[in-house]
Amino acid sequence: MWLRCAACSHQWPYLRFEVRCPRCGGDWLDVIYDLEAVRQRWDRLLRHRPFTMWRYRELLPLRQDLHIVTMEEGGTPLLRAENLGLMLGRPRLYIKDERQNPTGSFKDRQASLAISVAREAGLQEMVVASTGNVAISYAAYCARAGIQLWAFLVSSAPADKMREVALYGAEVIKVTGTYDQTKQVAAQFAERRGLFLDRGIRSLAARESMKTIAFEIAEQLGWRAPDWYIQAVSGGMGPIGVWKGFQELRAMGLVDRIPRIGVIQAEGCAPIVESFRLGLEQARVVRTPRTRIATLATGDPGPAYPVLRRIVQETGGAMETVSDEETYRAMHLLAKMEGLSMEPAAAAAFAGAFKLIASGHIRPEETVVINASGHTFPVEKFALGEGWVYTLEAPAAPSEGFLIALDQLDPRSRRVLIVDDDPDAVRLIRRILQSRGTFYVEAVDRGDEALERIRRDPPDVILLDLMMPGMDGFAVLEALKADERLRRIPVLVITARSLAPEERARLRQQAYAVLEKGMFTDENLIEDMLAALHPS
Ligand SMILES: *Cc1c(COP(=O)(O)O)cnc(C)c1O
Ligand SMILES: [Zn+2]
Repeated sequence: MWLRCAACSHQWPYLRFEVRCPRCGGDWLDVIYDLEAVRQRWDRLLRHRPFTMWRYRELLPLRQDLHIVTMEEGGTPLLRAENLGLMLGRPRLYIKDERQNPTGSFKDRQASLAISVAREAGLQEMVVASTGNVAISYAAYCARAGIQLWAFLVSSAPADKMREVALYGAEVIKVTGTYDQTKQVAAQFAERRGLFLDRGIRSLAARESMKTIAFEIAEQLGWRAPDWYIQAVSGGMGPIGVWKGFQELRAMGLVDRIPRIGVIQAEGCAPIVESFRLGLEQARVVRTPRTRIATLATGDPGPAYPVLRRIVQETGGAMETVSDEETYRAMHLLAKMEGLSMEPAAAAAFAGAFKLIASGHIRPEETVVINASGHTFPVEKFALGEGWVYTLEAPAAPSEGFLIALDQLDPRSRRVLIVDDDPDAVRLIRRILQSRGTFYVEAVDRGDEALERIRRDPPDVILLDLMMPGMDGFAVLEALKADERLRRIPVLVITARSLAPEERARLRQQAYAVLEKGMFTDENLIEDMLAALHPS
């Protein structure tokens, strides 16, 4: 291993922990490895190692194994987002489930490597500034390593997160101010006490640890790189590390390309994305972040910005901002459609990806990996709004009133019939409607059967596919419109087929709405359904 200074390119062997270039004093150092040698050893070694981030240990800057501080972080699942992918018309949509790390966020990779390096350097005490998750991770790993941690937390961090840091035995200092101010206070404290200060994005351990996300994704895809890696960004170490990871894999001949990098930031604190849009060489700092998502509130990205800018340009990636509301909506959607509850900072990546899909940046055939960077526990109150809980008082004895109250728990009143021969589409639509809780949903997969069912027992609304074997959707629609009793039932046509102009014109007259598969969101569908049921 060698260290190389990004400022002056000076390179020297990595013999001990260093933070500055001895020649120019530059504080952004990269680690250089003998990739050819590693490649040869990996052929033999990887087969026998457990699936944790330390299986790639040859490409991590720790000198001796005995210093490793681990809770078997990394090795997280790469989940196929079937429902979401279907809804968005992006079948190769994957979620890197970083929630499944020991303390619930991808910061555990950083903590495991950084605290191992700290132990190797003989540190017994250190200082960190954080918006929450870094402090939680560092506190947990410092507990295992026997290192005293001083954690400076920005006051906007959720109280639950602060308590968790304290639980691990760290000293918690809550700083009223922005994250950038919190970092300054921590730096002053470290300096006065002569303590080691974690250097965030400038820390080589932080960036190097994130490479393991790239290694895992490539291995999980059968040693292939995806077309996109998308992440919500605050300080930027994730995408910078992931990019370096793919660079190393390509140099080793293990993948043949580098994914496009998608950088998503919260609208109320998006110095990287905004500076990128303006074509600036250095970031324009956001002095007063205006987002409720504390994790994403880095106002001054410092040296990360020019690096990210170059990476996104070089890879043909994209940057996007999302509002807090878009983020909460995405958070709710991921939970309802994929069973994944994630913290807002993680959901922001998805909200951004939805926008990149809608704008056509991400094409239908592309393989997309989105980082679900952290778990939400407990669920943030902003995401749910009102009325998400039923309260019932158990009666002392069975009573009529209690049974009525129980019945009223189920607010479903409207009956929906789905007519579609594609079981995936039926599952998706059913799921969207179920998550609203106000519809009874039935499904049939044939046109003739649908007509028979509708005649016997007319539903309140029909969701109709066009292409089916036997009697197709056009014929069902004709038959309904010809029947005096049934012609007023609203029909929403859902089709995967591209329509000819005259077909579209005819459908417009007969159907309440036409939704093209892969083009509508759950909200579109629900809105059209409700409008059809309650015409104004
Ligand atoms: C830290 C963090 C981010 C942002 O990561 P960076 O790569 O450092 O910008 C996103 N999501 C969660 C959950 C985080 O903890
Ligand atoms: Zn230098």
